[in-house]
Formats: sequence, structure tokens, C-alpha cells
Amino acid sequence: MRLWTAEEKHLFKDIAIRLTSLLDATQLQRKLKQSEERLKLALEGTRVGLWDWNIQTDEVYFSPRWQTMLGFKPGEIEPYFRSWRDRIHPDEVQKVLQKLDLCLEGRCPFYETEHRLRAKDDGWIWVQARGEIVEWDKDGKPLRAVGTHTDISQRKHTEEKLKLSAVVFENTSEGVIITDVDKCILAVNKAFTAITGYEASEVIGKTPPILYASKQNKTSHTDIWAAMSDTGHWQGEIWNRRKNGEIYPQWINISHVKNETGGVSHYVYVFTDITVLKDSQDRLEHLAHHDPLTNLPNRLLFSIRLEHALERCRREGGKVAVLFFDLDRFKHINDNLGHPAGDQLLIYVSERLVNTVREEDTVARLSGDEFMILLEDLSVAEDAAHVAEKTLKTLAEPFALDNHVVYITTSIGISLFPDDAVDTEILLKNADTALYRAKDRGRNSFQFFTKELTVAAKQRAMLESSLRHAVENETFELYYQPQVSLNTGKLVGAEALVRWQHPRLGLLTPDRFLHVAEETGIVLELGNWVLRTACTQAKLWQQQGLPPLRIAVNVSPHQVTQGELAQIVAGILADTELEPRYLELEITEGSLLKRTEQTLDTLNNLSALGVSLAIDDFGKGYSSLNYLNRFHLHTLKIDQSFIKNIPQDPDDMAIVRAIIALAKSLRLTVIAEGVETQAQLQVLREQGCDHVQGYLFTAPLEISGFMNFLNTAPYPHPE
Ligand code: C2E
Ligand code: MG
Ligand code: MG
Repeated sequence: MRLWTAEEKHLFKDIAIRLTSLLDATQLQRKLKQSEERLKLALEGTRVGLWDWNIQTDEVYFSPRWQTMLGFKPGEIEPYFRSWRDRIHPDEVQKVLQKLDLCLEGRCPFYETEHRLRAKDDGWIWVQARGEIVEWDKDGKPLRAVGTHTDISQRKHTEEKLKLSAVVFENTSEGVIITDVDKCILAVNKAFTAITGYEASEVIGKTPPILYASKQNKTSHTDIWAAMSDTGHWQGEIWNRRKNGEIYPQWINISHVKNETGGVSHYVYVFTDITVLKDSQDRLEHLAHHDPLTNLPNRLLFSIRLEHALERCRREGGKVAVLFFDLDRFKHINDNLGHPAGDQLLIYVSERLVNTVREEDTVARLSGDEFMILLEDLSVAEDAAHVAEKTLKTLAEPFALDNHVVYITTSIGISLFPDDAVDTEILLKNADTALYRAKDRGRNSFQFFTKELTVAAKQRAMLESSLRHAVENETFELYYQPQVSLNTGKLVGAEALVRWQHPRLGLLTPDRFLHVAEETGIVLELGNWVLRTACTQAKLWQQQGLPPLRIAVNVSPHQVTQGELAQIVAGILADTELEPRYLELEITEGSLLKRTEQTLDTLNNLSALGVSLAIDDFGKGYSSLNYLNRFHLHTLKIDQSFIKNIPQDPDDMAIVRAIIALAKSLRLTVIAEGVETQAQLQVLREQGCDHVQGYLFTAPLEISGFMNFLNTAPYPHPE
């Protein structure tokens, strides 16, 4: 509570004394008038209204300002105490009068209070009232009191607002941070602590961590502050981290606060934790995009993904396949076993479909018993056939429902982008057409939209399954083709070449099946079989007393890049007891295309074993000469396509010459394959080629033929 200032006290006393003792004296009256005028002038310029109360007569002098403060014209208010008392707000009148009584009773030297007074228009204004008894009779009874009423409505209003803001700041459920212009935290509220886990004392003086650095945040600091400097405001969704490390989404609103001169003085961050909102949004989104029975994507989500897949495919190439499934005679199951059983079956079918495809593929349920699979990033149409085959097979397994075991068959229609359609609509229509064709041609089958693809895919699928069978039953054979030294004319080695004794198609050369073995990964098992068989044979020949030959074995890129080739070879050499120097591995340039550290390790480990390495079909691939000295090579094998047209083709002549020269300069052995004529042999001899191999000597031979060749060949055996 504020006390009168000495100056004010003095002023009031002065007035009082003058008012009483100088009333009759004209000169003094004039002085008094002057003094009053000065006082009036001083007070009228302020918000202060003056009152002077004659307690005996109850008359009150209200200064003009006192009256205008309440909206009256000077003189409009009756000059009595009641005029004032009756205007005090009913809530405060008792308190005000009590204080006044204390003063009148002499128990308090002054009177001071804040209360409301009713204005002329019946509105309320806040006043600060101060007063003091200035005159007493000889018995000490108060005769006069003087004082002021100051209009403090504006201050009260501001105080109210501040009080309200403080309550809001503390009690709002939004986190609030207030920083200075340097983004140094000045204050945070309770919700801030509740959301982030940080106490005010831990963050005040620090910079608010607005953005958790994560890929989840699509906005950057730079974006936010650019918007702030443009508009003074930014809001958006960001991810942040709580004290306990948990990442959560928040909706944040940042604004600047300006001072009177227009400069930014503060920043205010208001944020809400939207984890719950996001979760329910996610749940809603999931519901909108998924089939409630199987939880698979529905038609809508499938279309969205398909559209994206086509866009990507247009940009990056490759193929996209849509497989349209329909369970044969599903209605029959529903009708006979009831809908709950039908539903259970659909759930099991969806699970099997999901397990058949890669994670990045989409399995969707469109309606009833119709499912779709979207396959992306395919390189060949057969890959789609492969998935169709696999799904037919898994769905053909019995389904154990609660009370029944059921067998179902499925029909599948396949349509490919960009082969069969230019957009999603046509692609889906064509898959549908293909599905009807599949149903027509007998159920439990798949059909491509085009007939040719269906035939090719089926042949391939058949080839694949019999190839697997052949690997299991070892119905392969190795043929051997001799390699001869041009220098000595002696036999130096033999290349092992795989053949497949097909039950129906007879003896097949690798061009008929190797690509399928490569694509399906069967080549790994086949390759191991070839290696083991060739090494066993080489050792056997040695044991039979034949002069030792170096056996060249072809290895596929798959075997080289798969990473375990060196261990496998070491194991086979140990098992067969063949010395490593009698084994040469022929790798193609394709194996070196992806020159990973792992590939290099494999090749170095093989050299370390003592096995020779040859580059097969040299010159045919994407020759990058820099790999030649990256690992320890033994032989370059000139591709037979260059040998074919020498000596008549000058370009091929130049290439053969260059390869031989290159091999010499790198101190590698060079061998020419596909040598069929004496003329070719002549050129190779002239150019200094080391070894040759080809029909001129013999085609690849099975074991007995090879033994015959050894005994009867005009070319001497190696010593
Ligand atoms: P390649 O390693 O370049 O084998 C040489 C191919 O040329 C063999 O074909 C061979 O029969 C054939 N050939 C030999 N002399 C002549 C000739 O004078 N004229 C002509 N025109 N051809 C001749 P093949 O046996 O059909 O093998 C083809 C390819 O299959 C091989 O080419 C090799 O890359 C691959 N291959 C063969 N066996 C295996 C194997 O066990 N594993 C792997 N991964 N690939 C193999
Ligand atoms: Mg070869
Ligand atoms: Mg070759």
C-alpha cells in the first residue's frame, strides 16, 4: 500500500490551512484563490481528482477533474458525501467505509484504498483513493478530510490481462517457450516440462532444440528461420526428442514479438504433442487403405502403389507385373461350409500370398476372393511367371480350417508394364482378361496377357523345375576338351564343359539351360558339382598313371560374387587330394563388373591357394584393363568370336594380335579357343600365342572319348 509522499502531505495541509484560516481575509482569499488555481491546474492535467470533505456539514468539494473522471460536467454532481459513497461498487463499499472509519476514529493516520466508482454512464472505473483528516476540533473530533481519487482503470486493466496471461501460460496444455531475440530461453511453462521432460531450470538460458535432426523432419532450420524473417511466423509439424530420448511429433507455432520501436524483442514457441493425434490419423489411414478381414492393402492403396510403380518404371526402366488372382470355386466353400469358414480361408490365403513374395511387393485384396500382387523391378517377364508358379504351388497345399481341411485351386492373370499397357487402367484390364483366359484354359494355372509369353514362361518354369531335379539327381556330365601348347605341340590341359542328360530332350549343351541356372541360383549347386567332379577326374587320371593335366573349370559370376568360392575350392582340393596347380578357374569379365572388395578377396584367396585364374572370352565383355593387375592372373583366353574370322578379317586380326601382345607384356599365358582351321593355327603360332583349343584337335569329349584321344592323338602328351 502506498503512503502519502511528504510532498503530497504538505500540499494537502497547506490547502487545508489556507482554506480555513484565510477565508475572511480578502488578500489572503486572493492568495488562496491563486493557490487553488495552481493546484487545480496541476491536478487537471493529471488523472487525479480532488475532494475536500467537511465532515460536520457532510458537504464535499469535488474538483472538476473528479467529476469529469466519472463522466460528469463540473457542477453536475451534488456536493455531498453520499454522491461519492453511493457510487462505490457494492463489492467494495464495506471495505472502503471501514477504512474511512478507521481514519475518522483516529486509528489510522490516513486512508488509502483501491475500488470501483460508478460513472455517469453506469460503467465502472477503478480509482485509487487517498485521504487524510486535516482538521480536528478541540476534542479531537475530525472536522475535515481531504484527498484524491486517481483513475487507475488502465493499470487495472493491464494488470488483469497480465494475471490472465500468467494463468493461461501456466495452465495451458500447450508447451510454451519464450526466448529473447538471441533465442536464449527466458521462460517455459508447466506443459513444456510435462511434454519434454525437461525442468525449467534445465533449459533456461539455453537455445530451444526446435528440430530433432532426423530424416523424419522434412523442414530445415533454414526454412523455418527464412519464414520467420519474412512473416514473423512459422507453424508446422516437426519431430522432436524428449529428455528420455523418445522421438515424438509436435505441432509448433513460432512467432516473434516486437518492441515499441518495431524491432524483434522475443520469440514465442507454442507446441502440442500430437502423438495421439498422429496415431489416430494413422489408424484412420490404415482403415481407409486396408481390407479389414485380411489386413491387406485394399483396391485404393493398390492403385496408389501401382501408379507409383509405373512412374518409377517410366523413370528408371525395368518391368512391373500385375498378377490378378481368383480362387477357383470359392463360392462353393462359402455355400457349403458357411461364411466364417470362407473368411478364415481368405485370411490363410492372404498369409500364404504375403509369404510368397518379397517384402517390397504388394499383395492386395480387391473384393471377395480376388487378390492382386504387384511386382516391381522385374528384369524379365519370366520372373512374374516364377512368382505365379510359386503361389499356385503354395495355395495348392491343404488349408486346415477349424472344422475342415480344404483344397483350393487358383487362376492367375498376368499383365506387364510397359509390354502390355501404357497406364494402370489398361494394365489392370489386361490382367483381368488374362485371368479369364486362365480360367478358360482349365483352372489352377496362370496366363500372361500375351500368348507367346505364356508359352515361353511355361517352358522356362518347366525347365527350372527339371533343372532342380537334375541337380538333386546329378544327371549332369562333364565333357573335356584338350588344350595344346603351340610351342611344343604337347597337351597341357583340358577344359571341363558341362552337359545335361535330359530325360526327354537328350544331351543338352550349356546354352540351353545355363541362363536359367544363373537366374534361379541353381548354378551355385551345379558349379560345386562341376568343380568336385572335374577335380576328382583329374586326380583319377593321375592315379591311373596318365601324365598330369591342368583342368580348366568354368565358374559363373554368381559363384565368384557369392563370396565362398575360395573356401569351397579349398575343401574340394583337400577332399580330392588334387594339387592346386592342376586346377585353373575360368572366370568371365562379367564376374569382375561389380568389383567389390569381396570379389577381389575371393580372387586373391584363390591365387593364394595356388589355383590358376584365367579370364575366359577375353575381349567380348566390357573389358576394363585395369582389373588385370588388381589380382594374380595366370591366363588370358581370347574369345572364340575373334578367332573365327582370322586371318581374313583384318579387324579381328588386329584384335588377336593386340590381345597376344597385351598378355605377353603382362607376362600372362594366352590361349585361343574355337580354333577350327590350320590357317587360324598358323596365324596364332606366328603371333606367339601360347596354347590353343578347338575342333581342329577335337570337340569336347566324354571320358572314354577323351582317353581315346589321349592314346591316339597326333599330338604328343606332356612329359
Ligand atoms: P566357354 O568356356 O567359352 O567354352 C567354350 C565353348 O566353345 C564350349 O561350348 C565348347 O564346346 C565350344 N567350342 C570348343 N571348341 C570349339 C570350336 O572349335 N568351335 C566352336 N564353334 N566352338 C567350340 P559349350 O560346351 O557349349 O559351353 C558354352 C559355354 O558354357 C562355355 O563357354 C562356358 O562359358 C559355359 N560353361 C560350360 N560348362 C560350364 C560349367 O561347368 N560351368 C559354367 N559356369 N559354365 C560353363
Ligand atoms: Mg571356358
Ligand atoms: Mg570361352
